[in-house]
Amino acid sequence: MQKLLVNDILTVKDSPVHGKGLFSSIDFSSGQTITAIEGDIIDADECVRRESEGNVYIFWKEDDIYIDVSNHSIIKFINHSCNYNCDVEEDEKGNLILIAIKDIQAGEELTIDYGYDEIYESCTCDGCTNKTIFKSN
Ligand SMILES: [Zn+2]
Repeated sequence: MQKLLVNDILTVKDSPVHGKGLFSSIDFSSGQTITAIEGDIIDADECVRRESEGNVYIFWKEDDIYIDVSNHSIIKFINHSCNYNCDVEEDEKGNLILIAIKDIQAGEELTIDYGYDEIYESCTCDGCTNKTIFKSN
């Protein structure tokens, strides 16, 4: 597989889940911070406008505050899995961060729960249980 973008700890390459994915280059322990999530800080109206243009790289932060990472961070390559190993939290300064919620080995793909219904309907993660739930409805 070809490596596309690299920093010290993260690599972007072809993913078995979907398109490109974000992979760890080092081990992380559960609870460890992996990277800050930085981007354009926008409000809900601007979020809707950008999403209508096909931007799918916007994180919700709080209330009326969203972060568009499309031009800023390789975090945008993180895929959804129902069996995710990362979560998005706020640090003590109020910045969004990606943290490990499981022990992660070097070379593993990093995933989060995107958290919206459409993703579960078309989810292709390994042993997906959420998709089964939707299918039986
Ligand atoms: Zn799934």
